[in-house]
Amino acid sequence: MTEISLHDSMSRRRRPVRRDATGRVGMYVCGPTVYDRAHLGNARSAVVFDVLFRLLRHVHGAANVLYVRNITDIDDKINARAAETGRSIGDITAETTAWYEEDMAQLGVLVPNKVPRATDHIAEMQTMIATLIAEDIAYVAEGHVLFEVRRAEGYGALSRRSLDDMIAGARVEVAPWKRDPMDFVLWKPSTGGEPGWDSPWGRGRPGWHIECSAMAERYLGSQFQIHGGGLDLQFPHHENEIAQSTACGHAFAEIWVHHEMLQVEGRKMSKSLGNFFTVRDLLDRGVPGEVIRFVFLMTRYSKPMDWTEAKAHEAETTLRRWRAVTKGIEPSATAAAVTEALADDLNTPAALGILRRLAREDPGALLASAQLIGLLEPELGDWEWEVGPGHLIGRPTDVTDFEKDVVHRLVDLRFQAKRDKNFAVADEIRAKLLEHGISIKDTKDESTWHRQTISLNAEEELPEFMASIEEKLGRAQ
Ligand code: AMP
Ligand code: ZN
Repeated sequence: MTEISLHDSMSRRRRPVRRDATGRVGMYVCGPTVYDRAHLGNARSAVVFDVLFRLLRHVHGAANVLYVRNITDIDDKINARAAETGRSIGDITAETTAWYEEDMAQLGVLVPNKVPRATDHIAEMQTMIATLIAEDIAYVAEGHVLFEVRRAEGYGALSRRSLDDMIAGARVEVAPWKRDPMDFVLWKPSTGGEPGWDSPWGRGRPGWHIECSAMAERYLGSQFQIHGGGLDLQFPHHENEIAQSTACGHAFAEIWVHHEMLQVEGRKMSKSLGNFFTVRDLLDRGVPGEVIRFVFLMTRYSKPMDWTEAKAHEAETTLRRWRAVTKGIEPSATAAAVTEALADDLNTPAALGILRRLAREDPGALLASAQLIGLLEPELGDWEWEVGPGHLIGRPTDVTDFEKDVVHRLVDLRFQAKRDKNFAVADEIRAKLLEHGISIKDTKDESTWHRQTISLNAEEELPEFMASIEEKLGRAQ
C-alpha cells in the first residue's frame, strides 16, 4: 500500500498518515464562515483538502476515511451583515451555505462525510466549556467565560511564538474582564437582537475557537489523524483549538496541514486593491470550474499561490487537449507515479507533469489518473462548446449579456470587415479579442468564437474598443 506522508506544521517534519486502531483515517478542516460568497482563497482551501480526501480514499478505501469540514454560522460578521441588510441571520447563513455548496461543486469539490454547523452543536460546546472551568483553566467574568492562556502548557508550540511575541504581534483585545490580554473568549453575553443561547453563564454565544474543538470531538473523537486549514488560521485559531482540546485531555490531531495563501497577479487579494474576486465572479465570467481547479493544482499547497490570467489560459488549453484525447475512452488504471507524487506531501505540480506525459502515451491512464485529482470528470465537462455569431452552440444560459452584446457584435463586425476586404480592421479585432482570451475560428460562411478564459478587464475595455471599430467601419448602431 502506498504510504502518504505530509508535512506536519507542529513537528516541522514529514509524517506518515496512519490509520487508527479501528482502521480509520479522520480529517478535520476548518470550513467557511457563511456571510458572503466564497472568494478564490476559500476555494483554494476547499480544493487542497479535496485532493487529500480523494487520495486518502484511493489509498485507504472510501469506507475508512472520515472527513469533517465545519460551517461557521455564528460570527459577528454574520450579525453585522444581518443588521446591515435587515435580513435574518438564518436566512443569510442558509443562502450563503447553499452558494458555497454550489460553487464548490463547480470546482469538483466532493462533499465531506460530515458538514456540521456550529449552531447545531451549542450543547457540545457548553459541555466542553464546563470541563475547562472545572479544570480551572477557564474562568467566568461578567457573563464571559475566558480561557486562561498562561495556564495552558505548551501554548504557542504550533506557531512557535512566545506569549510575549503573540501579545506584540496579534491584535489582542484588552478588556476589563480579562485577567490577561491573551485570554480568549469561550462564551460571551448576547444582548438585544444578537443570537444567544441559555447557558450556566447567562444568555450568550460561543467564541469562535470552541466550535472546532467541540465538533472535532463529536465526529472524530479525542484523537484523529489530520487537521487542516489555511496558514492564516495557525495562530490564534489552531493554537486555541489545541489548548482547549488538550486541556480536556484529548490527544487531538496527529498531523497539522496548513496551506499557503492565494494572491492575484503577484499581489495580495484584497477588496481595496480591486483584485478581489469570488469563485462566482470567475464562473460568471466564463472561466470553467475545472480550469480554476487546474490552476490551483499547478502550485503545491505549501507554496503561496498566484492566480494569473496566463495560468488560466494554460490550464484551459491543456484541459481542452486532454478532453480531446480521452474522448470516447474508458478510464484504465491510475498511474502509480501519479499516486506517488500525491502521496509525497501532495505534490500536485509533479502529478500534472506526469499527466502531461500520459496525454501523449496512454489516454486511459490519463483519464483515470486525472479523475483521481478531480479533473476530466464527465460532470465538469460541459464548458467545451463554441458560440457562433447570431446563434449559439451549447447552452444559451451560459452566455452572458456581455458576450451577447459585445463579443458577438465584435465577431460580427470582423466578419463584415473581412467580407468588405478590410483586412486591417479584421485583424485588429481578432488580435484584440485574443488579447482578452477569446479566439475566433473562420469557416467559409461564418466566424465562430470560443472563450479561452476571458480576461478580467474585458468587460471594461471591449465596449470602448467596439465603439471605435463601429466608428471606423461607419456602422454605429
Ligand atoms: P474563512 O471563511 O475566512 O473563515 O476561511 C475559510 C477557509 O479559507 C480557511 O481555511 C482559510 O484559511 C481559507 N482562506 C481564507 N483566505 C484565504 C486566502 N487568501 N488564501 C487561501 N486560503 C484562504
Ligand atoms: Zn477551526
